[in-house]
Amino acid sequence: MPGLNLTRNEATERASIIKRVHSYRIELDLPKDKDVFSSKVEIRFDAQEGASTFIDAITSSVKSITLNGEELSTDLADGERIQLPNLAAENTLVVDAEMFYTNTGEGLHRFVDPADGEVYLYSQFEVPDSRRVFPVFEQPDLKAEFEFIVRVPSHWVVVSNQPEVKVEEKECGCGRAKTWFFKPTPRMSSYITAIVAGPYEKVTSELTNSEGRVIPLGVYARKSLMPFVDAEDMFELTRQGFEFYEEQFKTPYPFEKYDQLFVPEFNAGAMENAGCVTYLETYVFRSKVAEALRERRAITVLHELAHMWFGDLVTMKWWNDLWLNESFAEFMSTLAAAENTRYAKEAWATFAASEKTWAYRQDQLSSTHPIVAEIRDLADVQVNFDGITYAKGASVLRQMVAWVGQENFMAALKVYFEKHSWGNTVLDDLLVELERTSGRDVRAWSAKWLETAGVNTLAVEVENDEAGNISNLGIRQSYAEGFETLR
Ligand SMILES: [Zn+2]
Repeated sequence: MPGLNLTRNEATERASIIKRVHSYRIELDLPKDKDVFSSKVEIRFDAQEGASTFIDAITSSVKSITLNGEELSTDLADGERIQLPNLAAENTLVVDAEMFYTNTGEGLHRFVDPADGEVYLYSQFEVPDSRRVFPVFEQPDLKAEFEFIVRVPSHWVVVSNQPEVKVEEKECGCGRAKTWFFKPTPRMSSYITAIVAGPYEKVTSELTNSEGRVIPLGVYARKSLMPFVDAEDMFELTRQGFEFYEEQFKTPYPFEKYDQLFVPEFNAGAMENAGCVTYLETYVFRSKVAEALRERRAITVLHELAHMWFGDLVTMKWWNDLWLNESFAEFMSTLAAAENTRYAKEAWATFAASEKTWAYRQDQLSSTHPIVAEIRDLADVQVNFDGITYAKGASVLRQMVAWVGQENFMAALKVYFEKHSWGNTVLDDLLVELERTSGRDVRAWSAKWLETAGVNTLAVEVENDEAGNISNLGIRQSYAEGFETLR
């Protein structure tokens, strides 16, 4: 399918041609005042010899395409994809292109602060928007190491998934510029890579994790907003989250540092970029807010942190398991809040009042769908960031954990993380471990709760005798037409 969509079939076919993507070396030159930026990428990958495929790249223009030392025609690029003919077993692809800044929160978003005229950039790549910043095989199962080299105006900072190894300052045509060199990432999906650049200000701290490793922590915001940032609250919740997850999962935090950045005009609540989490600025409180909003932010902090293991270290093979990513993070954040933060008393009540009611409501609309949804292409996944995927999924996961037992559930996770670290999985990979640790038939449960939609209704039926006493009382379970499952 040409254009901006990508079907599951295309992704499967491409993954069968590309045996392994080794690395991306991505050089970005990010000017302050233009509409476009330069993106030079070198990609090393193994492929089926003689086969052809394509790489995703939403470009303003393509200057050159070089495959295994041979310069190819730029006609192979149509502004959305670049065709790659006649691949070798081992390939090096170099593309020199210009890409657009965006103002829609997709790709590399550019924002001008009305308070002081400063320019701020940040990336948002989920679901398919890293291709707006560099040419990339944009599907979660083609993981690779990503090395970023980013040139920006001198007074900017750049934050990415990994710590920087050096920063060089040089005179260039446009004044003084700094080049930030980042350490290559471990193997990860492109949608969790990140670049945040601008005159952001930061507050730093650190924690020592269960392995005795020191993890640097940072909280960032634009200059004009920084006076309102209560970084200490973010750090406290982050420490409690680290402690809880490492203890429960028996798996240490997989990345080197943990930065959290408030970014302007953000579409979602937050995004789990590995070691570089971005947040909506609504979570910077400029005046006193209701405690409920503060609690919601705490849940979001713990949600994103849970993704570092579930989603980032181990990633779904295709977007049909997005629900598992999101319901896991949603369930786990409430569990962490209830068991290791000051929200111990209210966390589950809040969950029942907000998440579960959202799920019940959405599950009774004509637009409902099973939690495990059929995701044929990118358009399908874009409409699935909903109350079924997040809230019903989390509610049902809560039920499952109660049923197999929390200890068994966590023991299954430990094995799951061990087996699949830096790789990709399908739902079955988790169910296998859950069955093994709990001895329960998780599949029959999955068929009833995950693979069918709709709610059941419970009604009380009362019979009275002649004296008016209750002689019979029953509860009748029913379903709506078209949703014939009794649970
Ligand atoms: Zn999430």
